[in-house]
Amino acid sequence: MYVCDSCGGLLDVHHDLDALKPTVTRALFESRLGALDAPYNSGVWRYKELIYPDISDDMIVSRPEGNTNLYRQASLAAWCGVDTLYLKHEGENPTGSFKDRGMTGGLTQARRLGMQRVACASTGNTSASLAAYAAFAGLEGIVFFQNKQVAVGKLAQAVAYGATGVRIDADFDKNLELVRTVSEALGIYVLNSVNPFRLEGQKSIMFEVLQQLKWNVPDWIVVPGGNLGNSSAFGKGLWELHHLGLIDRLPRVAIIQAEGASPLYEAYQRGFDRLVPQKADTIATAIKIGNPVNYAKAVRTIHWTNGVVESVTDQEIMDAKALIDASGIGCEPASACSLAGTSKLVEAGIIQRGDSVVGILTGHVLKDPEAIINYHSDQLPHIRPAYPTRLYESGPSVEELSRILLREPANPLKSVRG
Ligand SMILES: *Cc1c(COP(=O)(O)O)cnc(C)c1O
Repeated sequence: MYVCDSCGGLLDVHHDLDALKPTVTRALFESRLGALDAPYNSGVWRYKELIYPDISDDMIVSRPEGNTNLYRQASLAAWCGVDTLYLKHEGENPTGSFKDRGMTGGLTQARRLGMQRVACASTGNTSASLAAYAAFAGLEGIVFFQNKQVAVGKLAQAVAYGATGVRIDADFDKNLELVRTVSEALGIYVLNSVNPFRLEGQKSIMFEVLQQLKWNVPDWIVVPGGNLGNSSAFGKGLWELHHLGLIDRLPRVAIIQAEGASPLYEAYQRGFDRLVPQKADTIATAIKIGNPVNYAKAVRTIHWTNGVVESVTDQEIMDAKALIDASGIGCEPASACSLAGTSKLVEAGIIQRGDSVVGILTGHVLKDPEAIINYHSDQLPHIRPAYPTRLYESGPSVEELSRILLREPANPLKSVRG
């Protein structure tokens, strides 16, 4: 069951926060840092009381996930025009994206319900994660791919982990509709972000950020938005932390969409009158979604946190990605919305130079190798690389190699504005 019988809206997991309040303390979560044993060695299940309090530990399907790094890179902060920028790298999860934090919640619930098969429609990372977690739990994983434009790293993962994969001649939005209908008919458990147990796991990104910052609340959380599951989960998690008194105020959440897939941004411009679905198109395939199912929950996040929505072009996404990559951190295209969006919001005067910002990097640099090679070799239609890395060719000769290596170093971060 994923939707409300009477209104058709998506369900929330509702915790009895007043009952949890005496147990759930900063000290409890500090005591589990560095835990060696399951489930508290996971950056999701460290917060078990706020994820799934009454589940028995042997039901939990965990790789374990989370415990991702929070980076400070002064050159990237300078490029954006802020003093304090942290990047939380969710690409450091077991299958290379934050989807693992959702999947541990979703697969645990699937096991509890006694399901044999789990399925999703996917732009790529959900299927990679589902395939791994289903295999790990001994269930059959089923993934519906949009026919074109699944990044090769993600497709390869789903195949490698042994999922039943189907390429369907349709876009993500249509595939999600199909997987919901087919699963209902065949008794398969759906693990897209319509599943509220996914969002419970993904909330833990906010818990971990706050704990890593020693519970000092940043001014901004900046996150890419596609199907808006993460944005929704962030709002819920932050609201719960605040309600429990673990944080004394809420950060503002900025959701960044790609210009070609920006129905939330368009609705934001119109005061959130309603969602008008789009035909989505962007190089950031992870957020190439025109009809986000979590629209209402994402709007709730914006209202709760006094948040904003911004959109960025594919050019801005790929240039920001090139800088994140060249800083030694690296991420996939969609993730770079966090940096591109921060820069744009600073230019617009919405984020102030003195504000502290946490950007979420959602996926690993190896997810989409084609986008990298095509950007740096100037092969992308409508995109000119502002920060290209040149790949040289040389014969096996010392003279030729010396000529190449005596040129000026070309790392773009040496010359960015600051
Ligand atoms: C899934 C995904 C997103 C989009 O997240 P939503 O919760 O659908 O908004 C962004 N980046 C990456 C790398 C993803 O895998």
